[in-house]
Amino acid sequence: MADVRDVVVIGGGQAGLAAGYFLRRAKLDFVILDDQPEPGGAWRHYWDSLRLFSPAEYSPLPGWWMPRQPGEEFPTGDHVVGYLADYEKRYQLPVRRPVRVEGVHDVGAWLAVQTDQELWRAGIVISATGTWDAPHVPSYPGQSAFSGRQLHTDSYRSPKEFSGQRVVVVGGGNSAAQILAEVSTVAETTWVTRRPPRFMPDDVDGRVLFDVATQRETARRAGVPDTGGTRSLGDIVMVPSVLDARERGVLHAEPMFDRLTEHGVAWDDGHGLACDAIIWCTGFRPALRHLAPLQLRTEDGVVPTDGARSVQEPRLHLLGYGDWTGWASATLVGAARTAKSAVAEILEQFESDEAAV
Ligand code: FAD
Repeated sequence: MADVRDVVVIGGGQAGLAAGYFLRRAKLDFVILDDQPEPGGAWRHYWDSLRLFSPAEYSPLPGWWMPRQPGEEFPTGDHVVGYLADYEKRYQLPVRRPVRVEGVHDVGAWLAVQTDQELWRAGIVISATGTWDAPHVPSYPGQSAFSGRQLHTDSYRSPKEFSGQRVVVVGGGNSAAQILAEVSTVAETTWVTRRPPRFMPDDVDGRVLFDVATQRETARRAGVPDTGGTRSLGDIVMVPSVLDARERGVLHAEPMFDRLTEHGVAWDDGHGLACDAIIWCTGFRPALRHLAPLQLRTEDGVVPTDGARSVQEPRLHLLGYGDWTGWASATLVGAARTAKSAVAEILEQFESDEAAV
């Protein structure tokens, strides 16, 4: 026998909780299904030293400012996990965990959500499963021949395990810069990127990103063409550890290698580098496997959406996956903003369905 809800939210990270806040306010009957044993979403898995790149007051979920962390301008990942756990309790959000959603099916009048424990029937499904479950490692010749250690960002916890080693860090984003910054304090590092890394100005941190995202959202609502936000400013936020790495002269990126060899990496021009470990900071893809039964067409790995709503399956909304689901939607403040507009649209969907009856 299936449990029936107006809305089933898949994923209980920041995006799922933000949706829960507005669904509760809209008095819709909903449940949040999350496969983690504890609250916090991806923030439970980040490396020990990771911090928000914006102060607490710039990273709120709807309704409740993130409390400042005493003595810390940029909150730690543990502080964010504590905030998300308290948030669930504060708003008594109906989170069921650990529950793994295995598939979402179109069964005519409903969407059926099959989990590892039971079946749910929903009028609307919000997918907020993030990207942590879908690490991306590009393939290069010789990958299986390399005798050293290879790991993706998702397995990295601390520099200690690389002491005295020769480490190659791959990737041109914030994860790569922050991991390079700390591993280079204990190991010999080489940074490789496909294109020259682009650093934000030193005075740009999450506050500026927040303000620019707010301006873009205001412009979008007013129908003003988008300015592209901070993309022109760069990709890498100069957090204190990355600034320190620049002072130490380690923020120098080599072009990407062309293959791996048994003991290292090599370039087509003939030069090579022996190394003990390669850390692939090569990002993530949206974790959408559970949507496969809907057979949605995807473009570059993403589901075509109008705002957060699937173009092909209008009863499906997607939250928190990055700009394609709303400006800065993969950040706390962006998740809050896009959840608000998505739930307003869902409410309209229900009201127009009732009017049509
Ligand atoms: P998640 O946090 O991944 O939550 C999704 C939840 O859904 C997880 O609990 C997952 O286990 C669960 N799930 C997945 N699949 C299923 C399934 N099939 N069934 C049930 N449950 C499922 N953001 C900021 O706002 N500020 C920052 O300063 C910041 N810094 C960052 C620095 C780095 C290096 C990185 C990598 C990210 C940073 N982020 C920052 C981004 C932020 O951490 C993530 O984008 C955010 O955690 C995504 O939230 P989410 O709710 O969309 O996904």
